[in-house]
Order: sequence, then structure tokens, then C-alpha cells
Amino acid sequence: VKNIIVQKYGGTSVGDINRLRKVANRIIKLRNEGNYMVVVVSAMGKTTDDLVKMAYEVHDNPPSREMDMLLATGEQISIALLAMAIEVEGYDVISLTGAQCGIQTTENHKKARIHKINTERIERELKEKGIVIVAGFQGINENKDITTLGRGGSDTSAVALAVALNAKQCEIYTDVDGVYTADPRVVKSAKLIPEMEYKEVLELASLGARVLHPRSIELAEKNKMKLVVRSSFNGNPGTTIKEDVRNMERSVVTGVSLDEDIAKISVLEVPDKPGTAFKLFSALSEANIHVDMIVQNVHRNAINDISFTVAEDELNEALAVTEIYAHDVNANEVTYEENVAKLSIVGTGIVANTDISSKFFESLYELGINIRMISTSELKISCVIDIEGSKEAMNHVHKKFIG
Ligand code: ADP
Ligand code: ASP
Ligand code: MG
Repeated sequence: VKNIIVQKYGGTSVGDINRLRKVANRIIKLRNEGNYMVVVVSAMGKTTDDLVKMAYEVHDNPPSREMDMLLATGEQISIALLAMAIEVEGYDVISLTGAQCGIQTTENHKKARIHKINTERIERELKEKGIVIVAGFQGINENKDITTLGRGGSDTSAVALAVALNAKQCEIYTDVDGVYTADPRVVKSAKLIPEMEYKEVLELASLGARVLHPRSIELAEKNKMKLVVRSSFNGNPGTTIKEDVRNMERSVVTGVSLDEDIAKISVLEVPDKPGTAFKLFSALSEANIHVDMIVQNVHRNAINDISFTVAEDELNEALAVTEIYAHDVNANEVTYEENVAKLSIVGTGIVANTDISSKFFESLYELGINIRMISTSELKISCVIDIEGSKEAMNHVHKKFIG
């Protein structure tokens, strides 16, 4: 099939029946222009959050397989209702779950990765009906169990389908006008960025800007799929994300991100000998836990403290692994903190400008904020700080670098 447009609508965009109708009209308009429409949708409004809450009322550590079974239902509601809203206008349409769409994922629940899409069914339906509505965020694994791709994963479903179907366009519709220099709900002076490179958006998103699921940007970059992020509430052009953007007037810092969903774990008084770090981080990696920043403090002869950060929702699992390790190597104690956040500045110019980091640290100092951990890379500088006051810090840092 040619002339395929893939669109994705997020939770707020399909938050109630009225909005669902507006989305239906957008799809119909493009269909009337001769396009074949593949539309990925998220669960309505806060449905996924509510389902998570319910699960934790029943169980304090819900089995991942059942969690996926539960969460995948949210998207099934919105695809059926959206298909009805289109059908009632007199158009052919069909809704499909991830499994029905041939979205095959890895085994692991709650953060599965798409490894293949068998497009036979969707291509057949597309040819026949012209509009296919797909449940985002979900797929099926080898065992034929339903999996989910991690929170915010519908973006990834959309990009993966756009790539597999060789779509001419992939549009991500959300509740803000595009990608901004910071979360516009936190930083009022944040500016819309009309054009961005994959790697900048990937960095912003990985560091806590939840406007796009990081994996979706990786997939788009790998397959050179142009992405457009725009609002479902107006006709503004939004943000175009592509390979390279030439704009000499851009500031060195493109954006500021804040990630409040991190936790810091410390292993105190670890005997200092070769292999101790290896043991800890290989055990964590075996448990499929992603470790972010790592700091090792040497405080006495042959004794170290090792601190690292993980995503807050992996804290319990990470603690369990770390406790076993601490016992094994005779460390003194394992402690953790949840009231921390990671504040980052992102931009392609960061690596070449030595004064950027000192300006960043200075702006935190101006607010009397203590920096707990620092990490830098070519594209970013991150600081772990207390969660209290972190939004204020974000605003201040944004003002210093962007305005
Ligand atoms: P959707 O349900 O459409 O996927 P999300 O809530 O996942 O929507 O993502 C959109 C939200 O991301 C916005 O409402 C905004 O508050 C937040 N956000 C965080 N950082 C940024 C940023 N740099 N640019 C735009 N939005 C951002
Ligand atoms: N509904 C899922 C979530 O809330 C997936 C998504 O919205 O992208 O995380
Ligand atoms: Mg999202």
C-alpha cells in the first residue's frame, strides 16, 4: 500500500468522547484526501495510571505478566471507541490490538522491545478499509502473552509501524504544541523548538522530558523516519525531528530536563579490591535493571562507598539485588533515597564550551542547592539534587541558558 500516514494520539487527545470525535474528524479528512491511515492510540486520559493504582491495591508487588494483561486493556477501550466514532460517519475502519497487528516483542514484561512486525494482516485491512486503528504500547511475545513497552510506549508503537509499513509520514499528536526547551507546564517561559535533531530529542527524552518515549526516537533515527510532534487541539505545525538541522543562531543549550522519578542507592564501606564494582553492576544488569549515574567515594584506605541511581519504579528490585551483593562482599550497609531528582542541560554545543558546566553549577549555587552527583557526556550535563526545590532550579537554569 502507498500513501500511508501513521498518526499517534496520546491519552489527553482521546481523553473523552468529544475529543475522540475530533480525532475521528482529523483522520477522516486525511482519508478523504486519498491517504491510507494507520492510527495508534493510547489509553484514554489517566486510564493507565488508574489501572496501576488498582493493581497495587490488590498486590504490593504485582506479577509483571498480569500487570501487562491489565494495562493493555486501557488501549483496547480507546481503539474500539475511536473505530466506532469513525464508522458512525460512514467510513470503513477496523481496530486491532498489538497482537492482531503482528507486533512481536521480546519476552520481558513491562518493558518489552518490539523485535518484529508481521504486517500481513494490517496491510490487508488497510487495502480493504483504508483506516486501521491500532492499540499502542502493547505487543505479544513468543509465549503468546501480552506484553507492554514501558510507560509512554505508544510513541514507539507508532514509529515501529511507520517504519515497517514504509509510511510517508509519522505524526505524534499530544497535548502541547511540540517539543519545548523545557516542560512547558513547569517552565512558563519555555519555547517551542520548530526543528530538532534525533540525538538532541533522544537526550532530552531520556533525561526526563516525557514528550516522547526514548525508544521511539532511537527507532526513528535508525530508520531515518521523519517525526512530527504536534498538538491535537490546533493546527500548529509543531516540531519536526530529523537527521540534521542547520541553524547557526541556536543557543548552545537546547533544553533543560528534570527527572523526578529516580532513586539513589548507596553501598557503604565496600572493601576496595578488583572486581567489586563488576560484581555489583553485573548482578544488576542480569536482573535487567538499568543503572544510570555511578559514583565511587574512597574514604579510607581500602574502603569505598558506591552510589548509583535507578528509575524509582525499579528501586525495590534494585535494592534486593544490592542487598545480596552487600552481604556477599561484606559491605557495611545499603541505604537509599527517593527524594532526589536529576536536572540536566542538553545541547550539541555543550562538549565544546568549557564554561557551560561552571555556569550550570553556579546557577544551582545561587539557589543554595547542593549537588549530590554529577555526570557529563558530549550532549549533556546532569546533576542529582534534592527533589524539593528542583522545579524552581529548573526554572532558574532555564532562565540562565535560554531565557
Ligand atoms: P501523550 O499522552 O500525548 O503521550 P505525555 O503526557 O506522554 O502525552 O507527554 C506530553 C507531556 O510531556 C506534555 O504535556 C508536557 O507536560 C510534557 N513535557 C515534558 N517535557 C517536555 C518538553 N521538553 N517539551 C514538551 N513537552 C514536555
Ligand atoms: N497508556 C500508556 C501509558 O500511559 C502508553 C502511552 O500512553 O503511551 O503509559
Ligand atoms: Mg506519552
